[in-house]
Amino acid sequence: MLKKKCEAPDCNKEFTVKMPHAKYCSDKCRWRIHAREKSQKRREKGLCPYCGNTMEKETSASYCINCQQYYKKRYYKNKEKAH
Ligand SMILES: [Zn+2]
Ligand SMILES: [Zn+2]
Repeated sequence: MLKKKCEAPDCNKEFTVKMPHAKYCSDKCRWRIHAREKSQKRREKGLCPYCGNTMEKETSASYCINCQQYYKKRYYKNKEKAH
């Protein structure tokens, strides 16, 4: 059986190749890299890496206003739950 190293830079696990073109050890790695590439491409275009919306030009934030609000809300919700 052919063994290969996972191409995910943060994984590098050795795995047995079932498919000839497999690059990653698992779907988890495949999806993680896929999502990373997608968000990188969006960022290069000046779009929000999370949702692909256009970003405010004069901002140092990494995400668009919608996502900032969304994650802020989620953050506070989690905080409430912790009590
Ligand atoms: Zn992997
Ligand atoms: Zn967004």
